[in-house]
Amino acid sequence: MALLDGKKLAQKILKELKKQVSRMKKKPVLAMVLVGDDPASSIYVRRKGFFCAETGIVSKTLKLPADVSEKKLLKVISQLNKDKNISAIMVQLPLPKHINKIKIIEAIDPGKDADCLHPENYGKFAQVDESYSVVAPATPFGIVRLLEEYKIKIEGKHAVVVGRSNIVGKPAAQLLLNRGATVTVCHRHTKNLPAFTRQADILVVAVGKKNLIKAEMVKKGAVVVDVGVNRVGKKIFGDVDFDNVSKKASFITPVPGGVGPTTIATLLWNTVQLARLAKATAKRAKK
Ligand code: NAD
Repeated sequence: MALLDGKKLAQKILKELKKQVSRMKKKPVLAMVLVGDDPASSIYVRRKGFFCAETGIVSKTLKLPADVSEKKLLKVISQLNKDKNISAIMVQLPLPKHINKIKIIEAIDPGKDADCLHPENYGKFAQVDESYSVVAPATPFGIVRLLEEYKIKIEGKHAVVVGRSNIVGKPAAQLLLNRGATVTVCHRHTKNLPAFTRQADILVVAVGKKNLIKAEMVKKGAVVVDVGVNRVGKKIFGDVDFDNVSKKASFITPVPGGVGPTTIATLLWNTVQLARLAKATAKRAKK
């Protein structure tokens, strides 16, 4: 078994971004909108800010109270859209229940959509690939970059994705499909989950249930990507029973240190690409 080292890949991506940013006169600015005081969300936003600082990207955090109205949040997004100094916008999910998430995502200017959640970007990415949308959903894009970094072949493989959320499961399936995998998507209504997971050459698990995937559910030699983040006291666990599954897998991501760092690195990748695109568009408009 070999580890898919997300920390190492993230450092490599950040180094490349630092180079790109150093050549830019106007530094990219990522605006992060944090609603409420969910401790996990606050940690994610702080960590993203820390990674930004490492690359020269400017980060701005806008903190809004948990009871902020949808109208006020839409106004904040509209101001960020209009602000020429902002290159990319990220709204930290989940949002409080009284706010319509889809409405908020659709309000973000597609040219500033750091997470590739806007239907225009998502549609382009689904229809062709990330070269058309410029950005790609951060967590799944990080997963694919991790597989590619370790020269794991995707084309022709059977990839099984467990979880069908809009931010992880569905776009992960789409990215793997775009790269020629045969994809099966499982979710909470799937009957006999092990019958599917056992067929996977590449198994991606994004559920949020500690130890959901046990050794007997995994084929020998499979590549296992564990997206889950389950907090137990101060410790973090994935969705995969790492100790036992790692004995069967050919490659596996650790939790922490796997998908987490690559997610942030790819979000910043998106930020820089959006800033470059905006610059190129402005230059063309001047001509
Ligand atoms: P979600 O709650 O939106 O989706 C969970 C999915 O799991 C659903 O599609 C549901 O149908 C499926 N599911 C639930 N129980 C199941 C079961 N018993 N068997 C099969 N499928 C089942 O969650 P999400 O936003 O996709 O996140 C999933 C996990 O990944 C969470 O732990 C989250 O914290 C983590 N996450 C990590 C990163 C990262 O950067 N490391 C990023 C995003 C999410």
